[in-house]
Amino acid sequence: MRPLRVAVVGSGPAGFFTVDALLKAPDLTCSVDLFNRLPTPYGLVREGVAPDHPSIKKVTAKYDRIASEPNVRFFGNVTFGVDVDRNDLLRHYHQVVYAVGAQSDRRLGIPGEDLPGSHPATEFVAWYNGHPDFSDRSFDLSHEFAVVVGNGNVAVDVARILVTDPEELARTDIADHALEALRRSAVREVVMLGRRGPAQGKFTSVELKELGRLDGVDVVIDAADLELDAASAAESERSRVADRNMNILRELAAREPTGAERRLVLRFLTSPVELLEAGGQVGAVRLERNRLVAGAGGYLRSEGTGGFDSIDAGLVLRSVGYRGVPLADVPFDRDRALIPNVRGRVTDGPGGEPVPREYVAGWIKRGPTGIIGTNKPDASETVTSMLEEVSGDALREPESPEPEAIPGLLSDRRVRFVTFDDWRRLDAAERAEGERHGRPRVKVVRVEEMLRIMDT
Ligand code: NAP
Repeated sequence: MRPLRVAVVGSGPAGFFTVDALLKAPDLTCSVDLFNRLPTPYGLVREGVAPDHPSIKKVTAKYDRIASEPNVRFFGNVTFGVDVDRNDLLRHYHQVVYAVGAQSDRRLGIPGEDLPGSHPATEFVAWYNGHPDFSDRSFDLSHEFAVVVGNGNVAVDVARILVTDPEELARTDIADHALEALRRSAVREVVMLGRRGPAQGKFTSVELKELGRLDGVDVVIDAADLELDAASAAESERSRVADRNMNILRELAAREPTGAERRLVLRFLTSPVELLEAGGQVGAVRLERNRLVAGAGGYLRSEGTGGFDSIDAGLVLRSVGYRGVPLADVPFDRDRALIPNVRGRVTDGPGGEPVPREYVAGWIKRGPTGIIGTNKPDASETVTSMLEEVSGDALREPESPEPEAIPGLLSDRRVRFVTFDDWRRLDAAERAEGERHGRPRVKVVRVEEMLRIMDT
């Protein structure tokens, strides 16, 4: 069979697992080019996974092996829609896979949401992880009280980072600017708000349990918040995660506060309804108490009870989910904020017809859910759909499939693309700097600096 030329846009877990599935496909000879906007690979493994979770990042060793395959090339520092577009890729490749993740965040839609001091948690995450687009951001940590809205793993991550002893973080690869800011932080109490009940938390048990092990932190939960209505009790019995989470929460609620320096308060069945201003920035959050009501398909949704209170907060991190953004000239489902597709094959609209040669994987395919490993079966499904097209007789030959055409095109456009060997040089420099400071690495957080090191 002729060698299949594939472009994968995005080198996070979804991109790498797609390349891996292509390489492992039986009876297929293929060459894959992996494009990435930043000069650094790995997507959210580098820019999303919390710095105090180094074991989760070990998956990059697998990605390095994939990138070392002779028929895989990495083109970093190349922005889709700017440096190369959809037509370019369709001209040079048999098939194109968009694995760009979800680049934005969902909004609460409440008054005061955009006050200074209120931020999407995703930006706080990108900031402490040294994402170059966010390294100049500042987060005002000069107030005693902070609020984190949401009950997912990102909420748990940002709440944990806010209350963790910065000297613990100093042993991780957290960005230097964030470490300095956290060392000066005056935040002493973080309140995490779940709009639904404890049995409906989206956090996973390992992450929840970790909150109870933080040195110098009292986790505070009102035991009354853990009393379940009949529907939640049934849900908790059905779901192992919910059951485990409830046991962890009960254990945490039973603990006597130790008078620790920092407190993490978990409140449930509570929604922010307005962020209140004080001195030109957020100063408090007005809250409404919720109850659960049965929605479509037995889903328990929250509904306001009309009971309100408010709490002080000089920092609000809105952790209510990531959100996909459209790619230039590629179909987009605005309601679901993803590229419409059937089993990974792009369709011309929601519920529409498949378009030839274009595919999706990861969060831009299914929405921002699941852990890193979820992307493996997700990518396999996409590759299965790709192979169905390959084994049919309708796959068109691209106009210009020669591998040299791509570096030529990028050079003609004066795009300073980087290779995986360039990344390896930066990786080695970051690790060497880390070794000098007893850390896994010291991240370079500016693109110009990354390119300078790659050039040496
Ligand atoms: P998520 O798991 O979807 O959680 C979003 C949270 O926001 C839910 O608790 C949701 O409540 C709440 N929410 C949504 N709209 C809201 C509103 N208007 N008001 C109040 N609350 C609202 O999203 P995520 O935390 O961003 O995580 C994204 C994915 O990455 C998840 O699959 C997560 O597990 C994964 N992740 C994993 C790790 C890890 O493995 N350590 C770390 C970080 C992220 P409802 O349930 O009521 O909708």
